[in-house]
Amino acid sequence: MRVGVLALQGAFREHQKALAACGVETEQIRKPEQLAKISALVIPGGESTTMGKLLMEFNLLEPIKELGKQGMPVFGTCAGMILLAKGIAGSTQPRLGLMDITVERNAFGRQVDSFEAELDVPVLGEEPFRAVFIRAPYILSVEKSVEALTSFGGKIIFARQGRFLAAAFHPELTGDLRVHRYFLENCIS
Ligand code: GLN
Repeated sequence: MRVGVLALQGAFREHQKALAACGVETEQIRKPEQLAKISALVIPGGESTTMGKLLMEFNLLEPIKELGKQGMPVFGTCAGMILLAKGIAGSTQPRLGLMDITVERNAFGRQVDSFEAELDVPVLGEEPFRAVFIRAPYILSVEKSVEALTSFGGKIIFARQGRFLAAAFHPELTGDLRVHRYFLENCIS
């Protein structure tokens, strides 16, 4: 199995490393024709407005949306989560809109640019997950079909809807592979 990592901008190399450490082959995705080679896609953190514009410029937005609707598993972190959301509070920026969630960008306040926290994530086991947040969004609301996997400060920050997985934090930066493994084992069949 080969997993694509959207490589237009942001922390794609770190995701490739994490996936490689899970024993999976990866492919940097920059062109629509590359999508034929992959069975799942990871969308990294970065800047969601820039990534959205680049997705359109590189003619990737519609093909990825279509593949997602047809069942391709997609995992988005931070800006990637924003791109997966149907709703983005106060914004009309381009998005894939594959998940029935509404997100708020830069939601933990601009003063707190980045921080780390120990998260309790029942689906990952008993050991807390050390998460890095960088100008992170959170999930304001979810539809019934979405499973909220973890909250922090009363806000949902990790959620799954079938083959789609979204994290407000950056699991690719800490060396703990449990979130990537969760995606590989549960969202891809
Ligand atoms: N604040 C960024 C955005 O809105 C996301 C930050 C990140 O991906 N680390 O796109």
